[in-house]
Amino acid sequence: MIIEKNVFLKEYTSYKTGGMAKYFAVCYNNDDVRQALDFAHSNNLDYEVIGGGSNLLISDGGYNGLIICTAKLNRYIINYGNNIIKCGAGISLADLVYYTCSHGFSGMESMAGIPGSTGGAVKMNAGAYNQEIKDTNIKAALMDKNGRIVIKTNEEIGYGYRLSSGTNDCIVLWAEFLYGRKTSEELLNIRKEILEKRKEKQPLHKPSCGSVFKRPAGNYAGTLIEKCGLKGCRIGGAEVSIKHANFILNEDNASSSDIYNLILHIQNTVYDKTGIKLEPEVRMIGFKK
Ligand SMILES: Cc1cc2nc3c(=O)[nH]c(=O)nc-3n(C[C@H](O)[C@H](O)[C@H](O)COP(=O)(O)OP(=O)(O)OC[C@H]3O[C@@H](n4cnc5c(N)ncnc54)[C@H](O)[C@@H]3O)c2cc1C
Repeated sequence: MIIEKNVFLKEYTSYKTGGMAKYFAVCYNNDDVRQALDFAHSNNLDYEVIGGGSNLLISDGGYNGLIICTAKLNRYIINYGNNIIKCGAGISLADLVYYTCSHGFSGMESMAGIPGSTGGAVKMNAGAYNQEIKDTNIKAALMDKNGRIVIKTNEEIGYGYRLSSGTNDCIVLWAEFLYGRKTSEELLNIRKEILEKRKEKQPLHKPSCGSVFKRPAGNYAGTLIEKCGLKGCRIGGAEVSIKHANFILNEDNASSSDIYNLILHIQNTVYDKTGIKLEPEVRMIGFKK
């Protein structure tokens, strides 16, 4: 495995922003991940994991450590023939959804259109339209920071709303899913409808990370942002989408600072006007903790 130096991260995020990583490792198999961890430990480096980069804001100053990229890790789908599928972390969720739908496996069809990798989807417990990763995931293989592989069950993965606490400090290597059965025709139709719904409701024409904020209890972040008059609000090249207020778009050569400052501005405005503190769903790398 090759560890590259000074790699621009904007190529690796859906926002198309962010500075350079001091070191960058693309992992294709479990040994690569272990080697990348060894490299970080033996050089006393901090490290962060990225998958498809579709839920990430990386600072303009970049990252002064090692980025371990799992977007190409374990690119396989194994169909055991008993409604169980094993899927490597680097398979895109879109490919997994298409595969399951076209083979008549139900449980992921409503997640059509969620970008990113299967590893990232497990980490984030990605979901949409009443389906989440946790509903079908039965177990996952994780590598801990010492390079040990641990298999965790659904319960041990500790799924919650857009999180999986049992994966903290671990790298997702592969996951197994248990599906129901429907006809592929029905599932592919649902997938198509969902993709059309997303096109209609979401601003997919400009770079974004999808929903910026988590849904606050009993409310919707987009509704609150809209009610606070923030649609179209702009800082530098970053803009709150007119179509969907919980999306911040990289409208015109935005920097990560533009996006970050707009996130803070939204949080402060919504808090001042409603008393509700919006919590970011987007994960940040290279910002002060
Ligand atoms: C247009 C658009 C629409 C979206 N719609 C939805 C939606 O409907 N529902 C939804 O849930 N999300 C949505 N998202 C957000 C995003 O696609 C999901 O969160 C996705 O699951 C992130 O996967 P990723 O591989 O891109 O992860 P990344 O963005 O690369 O990383 C996200 C987090 O996961 C960690 N991570 C990534 N890979 C691994 C791994 N192998 N092991 C351990 N940790 C890892 C990273 O460290 C980071 O903390 C949308 C994003 C966009 C751009």
